[in-house]
Amino acid sequence: MSDIIQLLPDGIANQIAAGEVIQRPASALKELLENSIDAGASDIHVIIRDAGRTLIQVTDNGCGMSSTDARMSFERHATSKIRNAQDLFAIRTMGFRGEALASIVAVAQVEMKTKRVEDETGTCIRIEGSELREQALCACSNGTSIAVKNLFYNVPARRKFLKSDQVELRNLMEEFQRIGIAHPELSFTFYNDNRIIYQLPASNQKTRLINILGSSYLDRLVPVMEDTDVVKISGFIGKPQFARKTRGEQYFFANRRYIRHPYLHHAVEEAFQELIPDEAFPSYFIMLEVNPANIDVNIHPTKIEVNFLHQQIIYSIVRAAVKKALGLHNLSPSLDFDQEPGLPYDPSAYKGEIKQPTITINPDYNPFTRGTPPDNPPAYKRPVVQKWEKLYAPHGQEAEDTSHMVQIHDQYIVSSVKSGILLVDQQAAHERILFERYLRLFTQQKPASQQILYPHTLHLSPQDFELITSILAEIRHIGFEISEFGRNMYIITGVPSGMEDTDIGELIDAMLENFKKNKDDLVQDKKINFARSLSRQQALKPGKKLSEAEMNSLIDELFACDAPEMAPDGRKTFVILPFGELAQRFK
Ligand code: ADP
Ligand code: MG
Repeated sequence: MSDIIQLLPDGIANQIAAGEVIQRPASALKELLENSIDAGASDIHVIIRDAGRTLIQVTDNGCGMSSTDARMSFERHATSKIRNAQDLFAIRTMGFRGEALASIVAVAQVEMKTKRVEDETGTCIRIEGSELREQALCACSNGTSIAVKNLFYNVPARRKFLKSDQVELRNLMEEFQRIGIAHPELSFTFYNDNRIIYQLPASNQKTRLINILGSSYLDRLVPVMEDTDVVKISGFIGKPQFARKTRGEQYFFANRRYIRHPYLHHAVEEAFQELIPDEAFPSYFIMLEVNPANIDVNIHPTKIEVNFLHQQIIYSIVRAAVKKALGLHNLSPSLDFDQEPGLPYDPSAYKGEIKQPTITINPDYNPFTRGTPPDNPPAYKRPVVQKWEKLYAPHGQEAEDTSHMVQIHDQYIVSSVKSGILLVDQQAAHERILFERYLRLFTQQKPASQQILYPHTLHLSPQDFELITSILAEIRHIGFEISEFGRNMYIITGVPSGMEDTDIGELIDAMLENFKKNKDDLVQDKKINFARSLSRQQALKPGKKLSEAEMNSLIDELFACDAPEMAPDGRKTFVILPFGELAQRFK
């Protein structure tokens, strides 16, 4: 048999390599932006069309390239940034592998214009699927402009894996944001389908964050700073009271490169512990600077993971720095050691008359005398027990009589049913009720809308603005009157009837959070998502006292639901403690 191994042609090799580096429009954007930054640009413009499917263009005022370099830049392993293996441990540039442009031209139609200051004319190059189609001299401004057209035009399989335009655009924006946050001293613009989405003038770190996240962040951020031999830390953390319910705003940068680092993430969580609820996520934007010799950025194809040499030390420093920042800004509430968190009920919730405990003592009682027990055994009665006594009524008889109901801890409703003791989580139950109610409402024709007295303006981050824009029709359909109100702003003038008293800012926030959490289902499940956000936001919260009538109707409505046993997110709404089990416990 003859030999069978062959070297792959360059085009195919590049396409394979592209699979690692260029997975979606956002990865191409990242590589182009990093190249512009490495080229020393101070002003960078991004133009996107069709969520990057048809065009991703990045124009910079960086150093540009000579004609020869321009042609070379598309070759595999062609880089100006390292020369030998030693350089790998002194990397100060974003790129160094020389494979990004080669990967991009393997899977797209690319046009580049580039010119150095010292050259009279620039160079124009057109490449399709790694094939050079055209190279010419041309007039252009200093710097480089690269247009990536019809990404994956020759790789249908990849194209098929792209998500909806909304999702791909969000990925592009996310990638852009990461770079924008890490380079506040550079100015950026970002256009999508001729609409400007980001306009970021060169600024300091805080202003950059606010330009990206929205002006509501002005009073939400606290600076973090720590300068040690091992690592220099700067950046901001979000105040604990603004901790989010989605993992969205957590950014680590190592030497200006966005990284994911679960270990260091844990350090931040540790520092925040006790200050935020379990289900909330702290926001942070933390920049780490280390000696390039002490960090390995070459362990992941898109460099999103890195290895630090002094990982453990950095962990402690990050944790300490965040703690210090929280402390300095006096954000830790005084810890209340008297409050026992596990208390099953809150005696103060008991509304009935509180009797003093009574202890009756038989002064003649002598434990050493045999014979009949004393007439009046010592008795200590908790006041609440009397209320509970109703639950001990013979079962069966009480099943329909829902008036025998107690609220404990202002959070759970206890009642007796045929088979045992029913415990209802009032929030979860109410969420289920509202969820089904809203879902019915949204599937009807347009629900009634109610004008509000004071229109509510939403100042949004570009990302949230895009999100709202993409679900505008649905928001209107459920009864909101909402219109665009300048850049990154919407104004709400009417709400669905019955929601007039809701905190609209909070409602919208909750809605956005929920949409982000379920972002990939965005298209098919908008109504479900809305119903879920609204019910979550509007449901009775623990701590809300209920009258007996309210408890009754809550339970009636719950059991009239299509799926009473679960809240929309899958939490249980009630549990039943069977009498059999109860009896067992007393054995
Ligand atoms: P790497 O960034 O890893 O070196 P790339 O494939 O991204 O590899 O780019 C190859 C080379 O092309 C770079 O090393 C750089 O010299 C040149 N280059 C790419 N983009 C630009 C740009 N916007 N301005 C100037 N030079 C560029
Ligand atoms: Mg590069």
